[in-house]
Amino acid sequence: MLEESHVYFHNAADVLGISAKLREILLAPFRVVKVALVTEGDDGKLQHHQGYRVQHNRARGPMKGGLRYHPTVDEDEATALANLMTWKTAVVNVPYGGAKGGINCDPTQLSERELDTITRAFVGQIQNVIGPTLDIPAPDVNTNAKVMGWIMDEYSKFAGFSPGVVTGKPIHLFGSEGREEATGRGVMIVLQEALAEQKKTLADITVAFQGFGNVGSFAAQLMAAEGAKVVAVGDHLGGVANADGLDVEALVLWARQHRTVKGFPGGDAFDSQDVLTWQADVLIPAALGDVLTKDNANDVRAKIIVEAANAPTTPEADAIFKQRGILVIPDILANAGGVTVSYFEWAQNIQQFRWELDRIRTELTQYMRKAYHSVAEMAQKHDVDLRTAAFVLAIQRVGQAALSRRCYTEVNHLSL
Ligand code: NAD
Repeated sequence: MLEESHVYFHNAADVLGISAKLREILLAPFRVVKVALVTEGDDGKLQHHQGYRVQHNRARGPMKGGLRYHPTVDEDEATALANLMTWKTAVVNVPYGGAKGGINCDPTQLSERELDTITRAFVGQIQNVIGPTLDIPAPDVNTNAKVMGWIMDEYSKFAGFSPGVVTGKPIHLFGSEGREEATGRGVMIVLQEALAEQKKTLADITVAFQGFGNVGSFAAQLMAAEGAKVVAVGDHLGGVANADGLDVEALVLWARQHRTVKGFPGGDAFDSQDVLTWQADVLIPAALGDVLTKDNANDVRAKIIVEAANAPTTPEADAIFKQRGILVIPDILANAGGVTVSYFEWAQNIQQFRWELDRIRTELTQYMRKAYHSVAEMAQKHDVDLRTAAFVLAIQRVGQAALSRRCYTEVNHLSL
């Protein structure tokens, strides 16, 4: 994953003509923290886990990124995702750098008390490198508002009342209105902007979704409300399709109850992997990384792909899409609605002043539209695809901030 994310970086660095030395500096993480977490399980036995926090770049502000609880969490994955966060926060122009981390545990095998204990042990180990002005974690795979509440509580024991140390908190515990829907809403907004350039609206298109969790289900509901026809949805257990358009509200209720879209009576069942090559105008991968590869890229039938998931497209697949004229709206733009509303949450925490939902939605729309058009203009200027353009914009912003701050004194003669 790390190598893959570097491919996109280098494509953009080539466009900018920046030196090998500056590339090396911009890619290197600022700090990599690995900690051993030894806690007592419910059965009285000791449990051992590793916690990671990779802080990639802080030139544009405190570092920001999710915490993932999954057996595959390791330094390599956290570093790649921290890197992406640096570029993502720069693309939407929120005043942050990038970070990512997590704990290599299997939360399905842990009780709530065990998870709470492990989380608090992790906070104890990293409390000196996180904080509202240093590094602000957020939910990611298998972490949620409840876990963020535990982190806020534990961190506040060290630093005093600090709601701004994490975002994605419960609304009743200094969270923000509109955070839950934010990534899905952002996905919809960038798609609307791309369609407008083709003189189309959501009412003109059919959409297929891989993944119907937080991001997929909110994006599908919001798009359907604007007239889009959601014709297929696949998740980890199965898929459901309806050429006349699925009843998305009913599907959300079904998925909430059954924890899968499989078995939904309002459509025909299919093998969930087929969703990626479904006949639809727009494909929205909203589940896992590396799902669009050289093996299936030629079979994709959508004309537009909106990367709601992080890193769903391998560089080989990306090249095939480019050659086939398929428009890809890249992850660092498409799914940046989440970090944007996280920024609003942090701003509210710092100011101790709450924003209404309308204000969140209005500001999010402005940020996402502006980001889309900045990327589209960059694509036109350099005659490149949207992904390369997004990286060009981000590298310029991060690089200029780093050089202006003289973050790297030994290379401050370098320029962008
Ligand atoms: P989630 O856990 O709520 O939902 C994940 C969905 O993916 C579920 O519907 C699940 O069934 C499906 N899925 C899992 N394995 C699958 C498989 N093998 N095949 C098909 N579907 C599968 O997660 P989420 O928060 O919706 O995040 C989805 C993606 O969006 C992730 O890549 C995440 O990193 C990215 N993302 C999320 C946010 C956010 O704010 N939640 C922000 C930016 C990016």
